Amino acid sequence: MKRLLFLVSTLLALSGAGAPVQAADVSSINNQSAVFSNDDGQSTTLDDSTQANRAAAKSLRIPSRTPTPTEGYRWPTRSLKIYMATQDKPLQQAFRDAVRAWNKTGAVHIKWCHDEDRADIIARDGSLSSTAPTPTVGYTSAQLGSTSTEYNPDTHALIQAKSTLDPNQLDYTSRHFRTAVAEHELGHSLGLAHAPEYMHSVMIPRNVRTGITKEDRTTIRLLYGLDR
Ligand SMILES: [Zn+2]
Repeated sequence: MKRLLFLVSTLLALSGAGAPVQAADVSSINNQSAVFSNDDGQSTTLDDSTQANRAAAKSLRIPSRTPTPTEGYRWPTRSLKIYMATQDKPLQQAFRDAVRAWNKTGAVHIKWCHDEDRADIIARDGSLSSTAPTPTVGYTSAQLGSTSTEYNPDTHALIQAKSTLDPNQLDYTSRHFRTAVAEHELGHSLGLAHAPEYMHSVMIPRNVRTGITKEDRTTIRLLYGLDR
């Protein structure tokens, strides 16, 4: 707790403005077809921020036009650490496949680490079933994955991201499908936003049709300061 307070005050002192903003993305599916709901929300709650010092860097350049939309923030470095917080084998496999896929874009180098406190991204499992009434009679709405990010609104720098996959919804789907969902959630963890339905992108919220596409690759490279 002492440490958390220190990090908060450090951030406030260096940014000279409000606390980091936390954004959340929730993706959901119904039992018939892959339907994601966008339940994005923002709050000013500060979570445990381990890499807060990074956010103290000067304001990052965020490209204004990218094929896949971005959230307007990114990590200050291209080398990132991720911690596997789930023991669920199918989900571990999905996260590993997804990390490999994002690394293949050449834009980021995400490495697995064994120390949760030093990780930028946390890969975890959790029950995402909604307690809210289902919107359509006859359909059971269930969420597949969700990602919450914490970033500094002044520098556009990500501070921490947590991607959650729901084992109850994903363990009995195909590896291909699970990996696509993990890629989608890690995409949020890297600063990508939802893509419109007509796009060819892993970031389309309502339908997991594909993994990381050429457009997503171009976007992540532009976001992290590389040419395509
Ligand atoms: Zn999403």
